[in-house]
Amino acid sequence: MKVWVLGSGSRGNATVIDNGSTRVLVDAGFSSRELKRRLGSAGIPPESIEAVIITHEHSDHMCGAARSAHRWNWSVHASAGTVLGAPELVDADVRTFDAGATLTFGTMSVQTVPVSHDATEPIAVIATDIVAGARAGVVMDLGRVTTQLRDAIRELDILVLESNHDEAMLARGPYPLSVQRRIAGASGHLSNRDAAIIARMCAHSGLQHLVLAHLSEQCNTPDHALASVSAALARSRFRGRVTAASQDVVHGAFVAGRRGARAQQLALAL
Ligand SMILES: [Zn+2]
Ligand SMILES: [Zn+2]
Repeated sequence: MKVWVLGSGSRGNATVIDNGSTRVLVDAGFSSRELKRRLGSAGIPPESIEAVIITHEHSDHMCGAARSAHRWNWSVHASAGTVLGAPELVDADVRTFDAGATLTFGTMSVQTVPVSHDATEPIAVIATDIVAGARAGVVMDLGRVTTQLRDAIRELDILVLESNHDEAMLARGPYPLSVQRRIAGASGHLSNRDAAIIARMCAHSGLQHLVLAHLSEQCNTPDHALASVSAALARSRFRGRVTAASQDVVHGAFVAGRRGARAQQLALAL
């Protein structure tokens, strides 16, 4: 299983998951031109992607989906609520599902998990290689963790996890109080402290890569996010690598195979 984070933050998100025979994209929050450029940096021809799964209707997760799907013949998958919230997806011939459904693409099974966020029917995504058993999760844009999500993110090999804001920086930052409350609320975004608690919760010896994502450019820094999560993992069974993804860098490939497979990582500056 390989994962590339093509960029992450409030200006766009897209993550490639590849099990060796099937490639899917989770979110397409960049223009198709920009997606092509970023995929090119990762050595991925856009035509090699089979499907795009949209987690929710916010433009930083789907603004390039319809155009890219048409251009490169991707199938588009989104919850029924997400399509309701995104009229621009109507032209993309979307295959809808209910949040919580499991989708299958070749030898890859994709579990969708409802999450708490200020969107119509948002999801997290857990992909499992049906043959090798490797598992990768993309969990971002959520305000809190439900029991269902906590169960779904156990025993992952690769986890891309939101670590949106430092609570003190959010309080001191440029946003009015109403926006601060929305960001920090149950339907907002996970703080570094939230991410640290979740990382600790799902840390196990097989977790090879933890990628912190959707960092706020106003109210967080990679150092803050990494320090918070690393402290939480210090005395855990986690033996993998922690990376903070940023908006303008293609990160990956994060590689996980069967237990004991060697992990590798590199970041490609654009
Ligand atoms: Zn977002
Ligand atoms: Zn969102």
